Amino acid sequence: MKLYNSATHKREEFIPNEPGKVGMYTCGPTVYHFAHIGNLRSYLMEDILEKYLRWTGYNVTRVMNITDVGHLSSDADTGEDKMLKGARREHKTVMEIAKFYTDAFFDDCKKLNIKTPDVVEPATSCIDEYIKIITRLMDTGYAYKAGGNIYFDTSKLERYYIFNDHDEEDLAVGVREGVEEDANKRNKADFVLWFTKSKFDGQELKWDSPWGVGYPGWHIECSGISMKYLGDRLDIHCGGVDNAFPHHTNEIAQSEAYLGHKWCNYWMHVHHLNTTGGKMSKSKGEFLTVSLLEEKGYDPLVYRFFCLQSHYRKALVFSWENLDNAKAAFDKLIAKAAALTPEDGGVDQEAFEAYRKKFDEALGNDLNTSLGITALYDVLKAKTNSATKRALLDSFDQVLGLDLLAKADRKRAAEEKRKASAPSSSGIIITGEGDPAIDALVLQRAEAKKSKNWAEADRIRDELKAQGIEVTDTKEGASWRKV
Ligand code: AMP
Ligand code: ZN
Repeated sequence: MKLYNSATHKREEFIPNEPGKVGMYTCGPTVYHFAHIGNLRSYLMEDILEKYLRWTGYNVTRVMNITDVGHLSSDADTGEDKMLKGARREHKTVMEIAKFYTDAFFDDCKKLNIKTPDVVEPATSCIDEYIKIITRLMDTGYAYKAGGNIYFDTSKLERYYIFNDHDEEDLAVGVREGVEEDANKRNKADFVLWFTKSKFDGQELKWDSPWGVGYPGWHIECSGISMKYLGDRLDIHCGGVDNAFPHHTNEIAQSEAYLGHKWCNYWMHVHHLNTTGGKMSKSKGEFLTVSLLEEKGYDPLVYRFFCLQSHYRKALVFSWENLDNAKAAFDKLIAKAAALTPEDGGVDQEAFEAYRKKFDEALGNDLNTSLGITALYDVLKAKTNSATKRALLDSFDQVLGLDLLAKADRKRAAEEKRKASAPSSSGIIITGEGDPAIDALVLQRAEAKKSKNWAEADRIRDELKAQGIEVTDTKEGASWRKV
């Protein structure tokens, strides 16, 4: 496949270190708050890359960290640890916050059909790894101690800025945000490998080290965890585009100084999801989470579809109107898939291979997901039988992760049932996903409403909600779906 490599600024043929095998590392979430749907865009597009590689036959090992220590408010090593901030905000311990938001993150991923990586490692579990790396960096003169902390000396490198030509201005971000500049650094670009208590007394989690009791910096976590599980030569490293600098730049600096050779061959950066007002934020404006989408009645997979409609290397603007457009297109797609009858002869292998190739070319061209979706529409329009079309949808969906056939089958079953079922004695028509017990409850609620027994109607709605059923009133009665 061709993959754009941010380290070389080129689209390159992807060649793994070992034939047939891919080591893939993803920067995980900082678990001090819920993930916003912007964060999730990054994980979603990385999931597509992983699934596409598997689809083409690679044996992929994907590793992700969970940042539960060391990520400060400013990426320039100043401000407070985000985890501590989260713990204060909620009057809980850092570990309680980490557990709660790690679980919330994976709940969101599950709803978006984002596969859990093969290895998920909290940063706090690999302290020995970081100490081992930092010790060698100290021994070889790449790191120094100042003000109690250990810093990486960027002046020791021939080339530090890998992804872009950053200037001094970028490094002043923290200062502009009103956070004090770290006076211990020898060079502006230097970064912390290990903090000691001399700098942050309030830190809850601390470990002993050769340089004093303290905790690791954010960047060393990813180098340490990646090397622990994926070895000294990494194939692909992913993250959101804001991670390129300083986080990934620092990961490369310390990893290559430690190893003495090139570390990672391909860098994949997902561009940002923005709002119409600009940058997405957890603290300003509407906090856009998967739960909020659900509260507003959207199936989370509509958001997945929305993301797939555009390229990961382009900024994407989120608005409710844009999401509504994606919803309408997704509903139409499912309706078309529902019209394919499952029992319809065998698969036409020739047609299957031809359409599969089209999809492969789209995704293999730097993950062109929108062209991949066009290939999906082409299948639906194709002059071949339903069995072939369904087999193709099933195949493409191993990468797209939209639950196409399951949704289509549920829709068809519900429609068949609606056609078959006569209105109830009260004349109310219930449509749903083909579960008679739920139909009966929804009917009871509709009848309670009809006879103005609001308390009973509300009670039944709550009971349905507890079972994950969402009811919408219709002209003839009500319809329901599992959310
Ligand atoms: P964090 O939890 O802040 O460490 O971020 C988790 C991931 O989300 C990182 O890979 C970020 O680069 C990425 N990210 C942050 N904001 C956005 C955004 N608006 N759109 C896409 N990805 C983002
Ligand atoms: Zn990272």
